Amino acid sequence: MADLIRLLPDHVANQIAAGEVVQRPASAVKELLENSVDAGATRIVLVVKDGGRSLIQVTDDGRGMSAMDARACFERHATSKIREADDLSALRTKGFRGEALASIAAIAQVELWTREPEQELGIRVLIEGSRVRTQEAMATAVGTTIAVRNLFFNVPARRQFLKSDSVELKHVLDEFHRIALAHPEIAFQLVHNEQEEYNIPVGSERQRIVHLFGRKYDERLVPVEENTDFVSVTGFVGKPEFAKRSRGEQYFFVNRRFIRSNYLEHAVRKAYDELVSRESFPSWFLFIDIDPAQIDINIHPTKTEIKFRDDRAVYAIVHAAVRRALGRFNIVPSLDFEPEPAILAAFAQQQAATSPPREPVPAWRPHDLGAFQAPPRPNVAGWQQLFDLGGTVPTPAPEAPRPTEEPRVIPWREHEGIPGERPVFQLHGTYIIAQLRSGFMVVDQQRAHERILYERNLKLIQLGAGLSQAELFPRHIELSASDFALVQDVMPELRSMGFDLEPFGGRTMQVNGMPAEAAEEDPTRLLEGLLEQLKHERGTLRNERHAILARGMAHSMAIRPGRVLSTPEMHDLIDRLFACEMPYHTPTGKPTLITYGLDDLNERFER
Ligand code: ADP
Ligand code: MG
Repeated sequence: MADLIRLLPDHVANQIAAGEVVQRPASAVKELLENSVDAGATRIVLVVKDGGRSLIQVTDDGRGMSAMDARACFERHATSKIREADDLSALRTKGFRGEALASIAAIAQVELWTREPEQELGIRVLIEGSRVRTQEAMATAVGTTIAVRNLFFNVPARRQFLKSDSVELKHVLDEFHRIALAHPEIAFQLVHNEQEEYNIPVGSERQRIVHLFGRKYDERLVPVEENTDFVSVTGFVGKPEFAKRSRGEQYFFVNRRFIRSNYLEHAVRKAYDELVSRESFPSWFLFIDIDPAQIDINIHPTKTEIKFRDDRAVYAIVHAAVRRALGRFNIVPSLDFEPEPAILAAFAQQQAATSPPREPVPAWRPHDLGAFQAPPRPNVAGWQQLFDLGGTVPTPAPEAPRPTEEPRVIPWREHEGIPGERPVFQLHGTYIIAQLRSGFMVVDQQRAHERILYERNLKLIQLGAGLSQAELFPRHIELSASDFALVQDVMPELRSMGFDLEPFGGRTMQVNGMPAEAAEEDPTRLLEGLLEQLKHERGTLRNERHAILARGMAHSMAIRPGRVLSTPEMHDLIDRLFACEMPYHTPTGKPTLITYGLDDLNERFER
């Protein structure tokens, strides 16, 4: 028998390997752009023709290559980025495999111009199907240009497999976005079919996002910033109300490398849990920076997955970072509140003259809730300071003694019931208007109440101890078979929220007590409303179920438009709203309040 095994010639081996690395024009774009970033470029120009099919050209002003390297870079496993396996644990570059240029050169016609800053002349190399055609000294700019022509010219099967130019361009743009987002310190230009698509200067991360995705993003972003010894999470998340029906911009970067991660996606989505409906997608641009020794990126050349040593810790920090950011946003400078003494006095006089003596509060009695109202949380102090001192919202801190000589300091609570307290008005029995230093805010009373009740309900469910107000005469509710089963199913949670129910034979429930804050509601309507919501949203996890129940109850119990509120009630509502963890949105993501700046008014009045 003859020996049959042979080593494949390099150009054949390269071509096979290329199948792994270069699947479509976008893969080549990614590799070239990454090389330019690794070369320390401050400006990168990408020129593409026909979706990348006929030309992909990347020019950078990076460190360039020596004449030797200009040849060597096309060899397989030729890299300047690591020397031994240990280097991987300190990797700061995008590349390290030394495969990309070899692969690209195996399946395209590649032209390279490069010059190092200290050289007078550069070098030009022409290589086609792994074979060097030309190599010559040449006058050229410092940095590197690589032009890739006729991708897959020698692999017809691959060429046919390519999609339309517009689809290929879309993939190219995706790669371009990922790299440009990760490197706002580098200027980028993109030209497709002779038309300039992008010309983006160096800027901040926020500016970069706006340049790539449009002006509208500016107002949609909430900054995220969380630093621990172990990992830092920065970037932006989209405000809940801008969540889209279709998957929007969702980017994770680890050490400035774009990655995909269902696990981290879950961490972010969870932070939005009660802010956006499940059918809509928030956007995010999150940068995770971590010691390279804590990750393993060495999985596959084109895979964007990554392994964290301690993925649970990363999950927890990402989740907390996003949640905190969402809880804080919407605090615009116009939320500063400055009670002008003159205005306060005028307001007090006007109130005294116009308002009838206060009636005892009818149906809805917020103060009944004293029993299970948590002591004012740091957030309250934060909000009061906003009103009192102006400035941006302070980090929640334990109540600090207020400087007494500061005349503007009038804590919200201390002035309850005193004429001359913070001006609030109710508009059409629906909105509460409160003056702020540089404008005013309009609070939607129903939504505010919904948020308050939601957080309270959730806490009660978790504690398993609700307060119920006993019915004088137990009432009976007749339910359908399925509703009856559903009620029994969620009985423990209903109890925690203050329902005192017991089966009363057949499909009848006896209502012995109702949640305190809903004491005036008709129990049948309340329960039916709740069941309706439960049927709509089917959560399987316990936490989800709790949230759905708490949300459903909050929705059913919240005061409706048309409910006239007394001044203390309005104060109480606002107070409790700002004691919430997420004051600015209902559990389904609708805004609870809107702020208006004096600037807006001045502009409209053309002052
Ligand atoms: P890797 O990036 O994994 O090292 P590549 O095949 O992408 O492998 O590149 C091979 C080598 O060529 C790099 O390690 C680098 O030294 C050099 N190189 C590639 N592109 C550039 C560039 N734009 N500027 C300077 N050097 C480059
Ligand atoms: Mg590379």
